[in-house]
Parts: sequence; structure tokens; C-alpha cells
Amino acid sequence: MITDLRSDTVTKPTAGMMDAIVNAKTGDDVYKEDPTVNKLEARMASMFGMDEALFFPTGSMANQAAIKLHTNPGEQLICDKWAHVFNYEGGGVSFNSGVSCRLIDGDRGMITAAQIEEAINPPDFYHSPLTSLVCLENTTNKGGGACYELEEIERIHKVCSEHGLGLHLDGARLMNAIVAKNQDPKDFGKLTDSISICFSKGLGTPLGTVLVGKKELMRNAIRIRKVLGGGMRQVGYMAAAALYALENQVDRLKEDHLKAREISELLAKKDYIQHVEPTETNIVIFYLSKDLSETKFMNDLLEKQVRISNMGQGKLRIVTHLDYTDEMHARLLGILDNYK
Ligand SMILES: *Cc1c(COP(=O)(O)O)cnc(C)c1O
Repeated sequence: MITDLRSDTVTKPTAGMMDAIVNAKTGDDVYKEDPTVNKLEARMASMFGMDEALFFPTGSMANQAAIKLHTNPGEQLICDKWAHVFNYEGGGVSFNSGVSCRLIDGDRGMITAAQIEEAINPPDFYHSPLTSLVCLENTTNKGGGACYELEEIERIHKVCSEHGLGLHLDGARLMNAIVAKNQDPKDFGKLTDSISICFSKGLGTPLGTVLVGKKELMRNAIRIRKVLGGGMRQVGYMAAAALYALENQVDRLKEDHLKAREISELLAKKDYIQHVEPTETNIVIFYLSKDLSETKFMNDLLEKQVRISNMGQGKLRIVTHLDYTDEMHARLLGILDNYK
């Protein structure tokens, strides 16, 4: 059996989740008549202390809708150079919203309030695009699952308020950060205008992302979702999976984090490894020593039924998840320890 560590999106529903899916009460969500979707949205809004929530098929669509809600064509948003919204959403920021990205050279995908303040275009200087939004990512994907300190987000919130900028948080893996740092979801709700939270990553559902946000911002969200093609019908089956994940599969993220840390600590000791990024959650990013090519290493692992991913620029990535068992973990540690 393949040990697939390319991403935490490769998981299949657990038996309990499958039961929840099969037994879900559903209705037509485009009419807002799906009781399970309505329950999930209410639950997420209250969990984050936000006014409203809306269920989307994907994280990209939720982020793109949020960007559309926050901006007008010709404006500019600020994000890290590694941000998912800039790198991995198909150019949606310009395609959907006619907005450009001002990229910041952050630390492992995280940016600071001071860097943001410096990147804001003066609003009365009409030659440059009007800065209207800041997008943060927590945990960072390309940055190796790094988590923001709440204090930094407080400072960023202050800069955004002072300059009248919206603040969107791409929280595809926010539950990983909340579990790793023992944080209160409501603090993120207090400090931002909108947050997207994915269920199809560490939480292990087949699909689904919830966008939570403030009332004024969310007024038009359902229309934007419709425009993007994201109005779904009896999608309560998937909302039931998400509710099941919230009840049963949040605390266990700790196990993914522990396994990732063990892999990271082992790799750091190996001669064939040049560098391992700090591992705070379920993503391990590492670089091979000069004399070993990424292709050879990945093929050698594949021969032993282990799949990992290549992020380019020498970055290799391992992501731990729900379907990565203790047995697979013990076996992988052995393979990595005895490599070469
Ligand atoms: C996975 C991910 C998303 C959403 O991706 P989809 O595949 O569209 O669900 C958004 N942001 C980050 C940081 C992600 O890792």
C-alpha cells in the first residue's frame, strides 16, 4: 500500500464520517433549505464569533469570493510572495477581481505589520493602484505550516484599521494552527474581516470550505458564489462530513503534528539533508544535500511505496494526515534513517 505524503487532501472519509454523510438531512441549498448546511454555517459563525458564514465547494473559491467582496477592479492587495491566493489559484485575483498583488518577502510565508505598512500605496497618489486589502495565510502552505503569533495579527489588524484596509485570512489550515498553539478561534474572528477554513485538508472531508465574515462584507457573498458557479444543491451530505470532523477530528491534528515533528527531527540529523525548515504543524519542508538530486530521492522513496512532493527551488514537502497510520510512520522513519 502506498504511503501518500504529498498532501493532507488525499484522505478518504472515516467510517464514522461516512455514516454521518449517509444519514444527513438535506435540502436544496441554493434555496437555503438544506438544514445541515445551515447548521454548519451557524456553527462556524459562532465558533469564530463572526456574523455570517457561507459554505463553498473549494478553498480557492472561498478566497476568490472574499477578494471580490473586499475590492474593486484596479485595486491592489498585499500578500506574501508564497501566498496561495497569488501562486495556486490560477491567477484568479486578476481574472475574477481585476486586482493586482503587491508581494512581500516574508518569513516562511508570514508577513509583518511593518512590512505591510511600508507596502501601502498612498491613497491620494492617484498614479498607483489603490491598496484595499491584506491577505494573510495561517498556517502557511509553501512556508511549511508556519503559524502566526496572535500579537503580530493584532498589529496587522491595527495597521489595516488605520489605513481602511480589509483583512482576509486564508485559513485553509487554521485549525492546525489553533490546535498547535492552543488558540481561541474567536480571537481570529475579532482581528479579521473574513476567514476561509477548509474541511478537505487535515479535517479529512471530501470537499468543502466555509467562509466566515462580517455582516456588511458578507451581504453580497451568496451572489458572488453563484457567479463563480459555487451554488450547490443537496450539499448537506458534505456539510454533515464537516460537522462530523468538527466533533471528532480536530483534536487528533496533534497526532499529525507529532508525526511531522518526528520526521523533521530525524531528517535534520541525516547527512543527505542540507536543511529542514522549522516544523510547527503537519508540513515538513526540507532540502537535499548538493550531491543528491530531488528526482533520485523521490524515485528511491517511490520504489519503497512512499510518495512525497516537489515544490520547486529545491524544496521537498511531506504532509502528515488522517490516513497516515502509526505503522506507515514507523516504516517511513526506518526508510529515512537507513537511506543511502
Ligand atoms: C489548499 C489550500 C487552499 C484551497 O485549495 P482548494 O484546493 O481550492 O480547496 C487555500 N489556501 C491554502 C493555503 C491551501 O493550502
